[in-house]
Amino acid sequence: MNKLTLALLAAGMLAASTVQAQADLIITNGKIATMASEGEFVQALAVKDGKIAATGSNESVLRLKQKDTRVVDVGGRTVIPGLNDSHTHVIRAGLNANMEVRWDGVRSLKRAMDMLREQAARTPDRQWVKVVGGWSEHQFDEKRLPTLAEINAAVPDKPVFILYLYGKAFLNQKGVETLGYNKDTKYLDGELELDSAGKPTGLLLAKPNAMILYSTLAKTNKLDRADQLNSTLHFYRDLNRLGMTSAVDAGGGGQAYPDDYGVTIELAKQGKLTVRTAYYLFAQKAGKELEDYERWIKMTKPGRNEHMFYANGFTTEGAGENLVSSAADFENFLEPRPELPHHMEDELERVVTLLVKNRWPFRIHATYGESIERDLAVIEKVNRTTPLAGLRWIVDHAETVTDDQLKRIKVLGGGVAVQNRLYFQGEAYWKRYGAQTRQLPPIRKMLDLGLPVGLGTDGTRVSSYGPWPSIYWAVTGKTAGGLSTWQAQDVLSRHEALQLMTRGSAWMSGEEDVKGRLTVGQYADFAVLPQDYFTMEVAKIKDLESVLTVVNGQVVYGAGQFEKLSPALPAVSPAWSPVRYFGGYQNH
Ligand SMILES: [Zn+2]
Repeated sequence: MNKLTLALLAAGMLAASTVQAQADLIITNGKIATMASEGEFVQALAVKDGKIAATGSNESVLRLKQKDTRVVDVGGRTVIPGLNDSHTHVIRAGLNANMEVRWDGVRSLKRAMDMLREQAARTPDRQWVKVVGGWSEHQFDEKRLPTLAEINAAVPDKPVFILYLYGKAFLNQKGVETLGYNKDTKYLDGELELDSAGKPTGLLLAKPNAMILYSTLAKTNKLDRADQLNSTLHFYRDLNRLGMTSAVDAGGGGQAYPDDYGVTIELAKQGKLTVRTAYYLFAQKAGKELEDYERWIKMTKPGRNEHMFYANGFTTEGAGENLVSSAADFENFLEPRPELPHHMEDELERVVTLLVKNRWPFRIHATYGESIERDLAVIEKVNRTTPLAGLRWIVDHAETVTDDQLKRIKVLGGGVAVQNRLYFQGEAYWKRYGAQTRQLPPIRKMLDLGLPVGLGTDGTRVSSYGPWPSIYWAVTGKTAGGLSTWQAQDVLSRHEALQLMTRGSAWMSGEEDVKGRLTVGQYADFAVLPQDYFTMEVAKIKDLESVLTVVNGQVVYGAGQFEKLSPALPAVSPAWSPVRYFGGYQNH
């Protein structure tokens, strides 16, 4: 036993002996990563009132056991702080999940097409069969997209919509017919491919933006309210299965406050939401963003929590990721970088000024350094007259942010939320811009500068919502297709990657002091893994999941020997839902 371990055991015993109250839950026989420092593990922890009350050896922590204490022996397994995705769209995803076939994690196109065919057979007439993003051809053994001919052959009689990232979408002929699309159909933006006879082929292209993809998706079926409640419960359960206990939601187009938050607010108020969710409000109408924020500032405020049981359980956090649509640079690496319009600066300045005056944290979507340059100039200008003075703000994505810009973000007290979007699009990026030696996004540079950095996914459309592929990408620098895109010195250690997906992400909702470590006083949010993340074969990290997930000291998911601890959920509805048959993320 080394000195460090002895010191830790002593600290654990001290904590155990100073806490008088009975523990609600004790975890024993673990390899529990405290994440207080690299390589620090304890054997046991105790939970009281949703927080960690003690850590240390089995013996020291079991002193807190009383009659009603639940003791769970995790049999030597690794325990980590619950994962926290700092940029995701879980609220919108929950409303839709039960009617989506998810190709996330599917390893072959053959299997993907089989799922489509099976789902079509059970889908009632007039309902769509939908695959709404979260995958790319590089994850498939075949390394290619499905063809329209294959989609039409697989599903001739039900309408099909398949979204590919934010680049394109495929409709089968039944889908084209259902929508009534033809050569005269008018769109705001985008392209509907026509064959030589002038008939739509079914291919929709996001050129110069994804409007045609969103507007077409909006014409397909929606779940009714009861099914949306059920869908959100099951989607959150799938997040728990993947080891997630927190998420920072970045809003979304068509995700208007408060109407589209009704389902999650209802579940939060009943204490049924099992992922602590902090949400930023996304302005909905181009050119009218200021009005949205003026209205919302009167309706809610940062830090307002509507969860019945959890601290920070369902909380308004701030504004973004869309502050003004003129500042949104579209992240489709199949197409050239878009230039932001000239009126962007004026619009953004008005919105940022309003937010800073009202002390609303904000986040801004920005893929390219060229956009960040202009965003920063606006934020610096606002700061001169209306000082940010420690207000939390975030640049989202930042794939091609420059070193100089990172320094300016640091001076202004900002942080950066990074995601594995290039895990799905790395090949497309290299094809367009050539092989890269710079890390995209430059996470190592951010860490060297001491910037707050959170890791996430940007799920569920332009990326999968699975957190483990993101961690895998961070510890390898490899895409889903196996392309190594980072230099060796930029690749993160397993401790660093996990730290970014836990405490790093917690900064994005101002919770870095209460989340992300398994030490006394922290939220009792953690996951027990079936394999040791710290030593397992690296390629298998992307398929990890939890066998026991605890939020606020309560078991929210259990599998295998812990299955009996898992709380019951109502059956998936509607009965034909693909989730009932396939589940969510496909890692088996
Ligand atoms: Zn974004």
